[in-house]
Amino acid sequence: MLALQKYALGAGNVRVADVDRPKPEPDGVLIRVKACGICGTDIHIYRDDTFPFQPPVILGHEVAGVIEELGERVSGWSVGDAVISETYYYTCGECIYCKTGRANLCEARYSIGSGTNGAMAEYVKVPAKNLHPIPQGISFVEAALTEPLTCCVHGVFEKADLKPGDAVLLSGPGAIGLLCLQVVKLFDCRVVVTGTRKDGDRLALARELGADLTLYAEDADTPQRVKAFYGGPTTAFECSGAVPATEFCLRALPKGGRYVQIGLPATPTPIELNLVALKELVITGAFATKPVWWLKTVDLMGAGKINLKKLITDTYKLSDWEKGFQDHISGAGIKHVFDLDPVL
Ligand SMILES: [Zn+2]
Ligand SMILES: [Zn+2]
Repeated sequence: MLALQKYALGAGNVRVADVDRPKPEPDGVLIRVKACGICGTDIHIYRDDTFPFQPPVILGHEVAGVIEELGERVSGWSVGDAVISETYYYTCGECIYCKTGRANLCEARYSIGSGTNGAMAEYVKVPAKNLHPIPQGISFVEAALTEPLTCCVHGVFEKADLKPGDAVLLSGPGAIGLLCLQVVKLFDCRVVVTGTRKDGDRLALARELGADLTLYAEDADTPQRVKAFYGGPTTAFECSGAVPATEFCLRALPKGGRYVQIGLPATPTPIELNLVALKELVITGAFATKPVWWLKTVDLMGAGKINLKKLITDTYKLSDWEKGFQDHISGAGIKHVFDLDPVL
């Protein structure tokens, strides 16, 4: 089968390779991949900058497809079922994190697309316990956004304490920011979204998706306008990973405010801890997601609460992978997805 493979350590070293089609494990299934999102993780592995992986490995973890083959011990699923898959291929089940439902923090965890073969391929094998049905009315390409959405659901539902009418600051209107925005709006909060001058189209989409106000971070009056927004935001979600955005959010928050880091900064971020002490800010972060949030996410998608379609600006075949990766890196468009039906 054809697959996008990171074949060695170091920057680059990615190619479309013809590899053996996998066999499902006894407790697993083989998925014929229909769509797979391009994520920051794939780019980190492509560049070999921060994210750990085991080459040779097939990239991609944001998978939607249909079951092609069942392992001998699998029940409750049928060949042809349209599915999405959670991404953790292995968690130990024994550590304190696994035992308390925080498998995202398991030290032994590894996932498809980094620790084992992923879904930028014709087929991927996954444990059957990872499967969820694709809700009615959701296309495969849209369903490929389930994993990033569930990361946002984890961050917003669990790491903040939002009440109706709260003012919220959301920094960074990329795919993750625009998904977080929609999750925050479920709480009937008022949201101001900030971006840079190159985010004009993304900020327009943010307004369409429910942002009450959008501002350019570079404008001189933006800090004042954020502070004045419905009495000041009680919570800031930093979704860009951009270093200056952190300080901006910490300064914008009033006393007692809460800062949630969602974006992954590529470089160390200096923090003025003075602000944290003087204002008694709470700083926290959200990494990946927990199994429990997948159910919530699939429910929200099925209930039509999240607009995924608007975020998908570009689709690619496997042979166009370099363009897809470059578009992601340059920030052209919003969400980039491999439409692998057919692969080429
Ligand atoms: Zn992802
Ligand atoms: Zn564990």
